[in-house]
Amino acid sequence: MQVRIDLHTHSRVSDGTDSPTELIQAAKAAELDVVAITDHDTAASWDEAAAAATEAGIELVRGMEISTDYVGHSVHLLAYLPDRTHPPLVAELARILAGRDGRLPLMLTRLARLGIEVSLEDVAAVSGDAAASGRPHLADALVAKGYVRSRDEAFNRYLGAGKPANVSRYAAPLEPMIRTVAAAGGVTVIAHPWGRSGHEQPDEAAISALVDAGLSGLEVDHQDHSPEVREKLRVIARNLDLVVTGSSDYHGTGKVGHHLGVNTTAPAEYERLLERAAAAAAASGRATPEVVR
Ligand SMILES: [Zn+2]
Ligand SMILES: [Zn+2]
Repeated sequence: MQVRIDLHTHSRVSDGTDSPTELIQAAKAAELDVVAITDHDTAASWDEAAAAATEAGIELVRGMEISTDYVGHSVHLLAYLPDRTHPPLVAELARILAGRDGRLPLMLTRLARLGIEVSLEDVAAVSGDAAASGRPHLADALVAKGYVRSRDEAFNRYLGAGKPANVSRYAAPLEPMIRTVAAAGGVTVIAHPWGRSGHEQPDEAAISALVDAGLSGLEVDHQDHSPEVREKLRVIARNLDLVVTGSSDYHGTGKVGHHLGVNTTAPAEYERLLERAAAAAAASGRATPEVVR
């Protein structure tokens, strides 16, 4: 029987639309055997997800997707099984989340100049129990108020990089963050390395330097990658002995075309990732979370 593994999903604790419990139940219904919960810049979904996974009888990897910066490019870094109480990690996540909340008022001001009236209360009404209100929530508020039809339209017209209401925010420098996660006993995988942006950065030489800092893998199979990009990334992963993952980047109804299990990770690659996590945990001496089985 084929073991189905999806290592990148979001709940309402960041910008997904399912509660952690609903996400786990959806993963079970999608016939996944292993799922990782990876909300943006927070471990706040872990406890509820772990309880739900035990209840549902599904294997759960606790992780997060960290907003980082690589020489001016936004890079999303998946961190699996770190000790969430490691002080340098806690401090960086707090700084990232504060930056996300902090830019909202400025974005609202810019929208107002364009004649679009959205308030902080409007955003709060759609962001519910999220750890921080980000652009996806603002996009949902724009949909709710009838200014746009979808999150995608909100990003394409107003909120995306280079669009009139966009405001940049703090992201943790990539290489130090890889070291911070390693010091917290976790392993790192670059999420959708060449997705959306369209440019092939970081390139093989840069990724090689990141491997020296402790990087363990590349998320090769992702909806934002064309077959050609996947093949190039697979070659780089092979050259650098990196773990290859494939995942949905599920956001509930918040992202179209990213249903659970749409991409999966090969069991042998998952085992390699867990071996590296065990080694990182042992080297760090930190109390890291176990995989929930
Ligand atoms: Zn991402
Ligand atoms: Zn994601």
